Amino acid sequence: MSENTAPTPSLEDIVSLCKRRGFIYPGSEVYGGLSGTWDYGPLGVALKRNIMQLWWKMFVDDADNMYGVDAAILMNQKVWQASGHVDTFSDPMVECSNCHSRQRADKLADPNKCPVCGKTSTFGEAKQFNMMFQTVVGPNFAKTRQEAAEGSDFDEKMDYNSNAVSYLRPETAQGIFTNFKNVVDSFYPDVPFGLAQQGKAFRNEISPRDFIFRSREFEQMEIEYFVHPDQWEAEFENWIARVHAWTDALGLPESSVHELEVSGDDRAHYSKRTVDFEFDFPIGREELLGLAYRTDFDLGNIQRVSGKSMEYRPKDGSPAYVPHVIEPSFGLERAIMAVLSAAYTEDQVNGDKRTVLKLPKHLAPVKVAVSPLLKNKPELVEKAREVYVMLKKEFGAVMWDDNGNVGKRYRRQDEIGTPYCVVIDFDTVEGDTTGTVTVRDRDTTEQTRVSIAELVRTLQ
Ligand code: ATP
Repeated sequence: MSENTAPTPSLEDIVSLCKRRGFIYPGSEVYGGLSGTWDYGPLGVALKRNIMQLWWKMFVDDADNMYGVDAAILMNQKVWQASGHVDTFSDPMVECSNCHSRQRADKLADPNKCPVCGKTSTFGEAKQFNMMFQTVVGPNFAKTRQEAAEGSDFDEKMDYNSNAVSYLRPETAQGIFTNFKNVVDSFYPDVPFGLAQQGKAFRNEISPRDFIFRSREFEQMEIEYFVHPDQWEAEFENWIARVHAWTDALGLPESSVHELEVSGDDRAHYSKRTVDFEFDFPIGREELLGLAYRTDFDLGNIQRVSGKSMEYRPKDGSPAYVPHVIEPSFGLERAIMAVLSAAYTEDQVNGDKRTVLKLPKHLAPVKVAVSPLLKNKPELVEKAREVYVMLKKEFGAVMWDDNGNVGKRYRRQDEIGTPYCVVIDFDTVEGDTTGTVTVRDRDTTEQTRVSIAELVRTLQ
């Protein structure tokens, strides 16, 4: 029997479990790390993919008016000029007068105390810091290497041709907008319809913090939902409901998810209405994902800068128009952090403290662990292997675990959120119960005997 004693986990609990059990490691750790970057280990990548697949299924496969795209990360610089990112995608930055660390002015908890050195500081006036990572495409230097090498100041003089400047995309949305016309021409969908994309986004955050919550490289799952301008309000409400269905599917308690109507001053430059969905993370209530009405801002800009029409022609012959857009923008890292925080539980089993990740079964990285009671008994190992192969064929994510005693295996599997452990013992291979195994449930810790013939069906 398990008895729940869980308070909200601390961020340290989550970080330490992720590192210890192979979910998430600090990026480039072996070289001392690189701030704001994280690497996913075997269980982390499985969890991440499960969340991405669930999202794709809910929003693309299960809908009849949604289309997927996968655009290049590097895009023509005009994309970011037209979208306003070159001019306005910046955060206010201040510098500590003591330790000279740079901080985001709008996120300082105390305007006179530095969160890095802890001393009373004067921060001075905020400067706007553009968060896009700039790069250069091709060996497109204004000066040849030979010419530059002949000079004494090679590094300083290696100017590139400004037409070759590109950026690592700070959002996936623009790769969707630039393909709006392509998809309309190929599929001619009725409005409303949506384009969906999952992929990396990069922001040179002034102070990355709180584990994966604010990283410099992260993953977004975005939808641009094209609507008739008269319909945006109703469609926006539909999206609020769909977002709640999503947070439910992630196993997040409804009481921990909050809608925040963002005021005009705080909205992004392109938005006429934004609702942020916040979650009670271990670090406090913070943004999990955003829902924004982007009007015709983006298609209008593309039309203006590219000179190509972004108008949509309804099939019934009514006048052409530039569709308006509702954008639900989901951050994958924040979803992972919310899922882990909601699932992390400490309870007591027979007087011992245990840590268990009560993940929704469809998100668990490992669905079933299979072990022989004793690893030095060939008859048990052989039977356990047979069961393992059978389950792996059916469920894929099945783990073989024969380290330590059974109690320890259960604890290890609990910690990574494996819903079921199957143990092959002497009763499996002899006596009245031949052909049955023990199935142990992660949440209740109850053990039941199930015949191997019924095992797949029972676990399903
Ligand atoms: P914040 O105010 O927290 O900086 P934002 O409002 O700039 O976020 P959006 O531009 O709306 O964020 O991005 C959409 C989503 O992408 C966010 O809701 C979040 O889930 C995710 N996201 C944005 N920035 C980061 C980041 N630095 N690290 C991880 N996820 C992020």
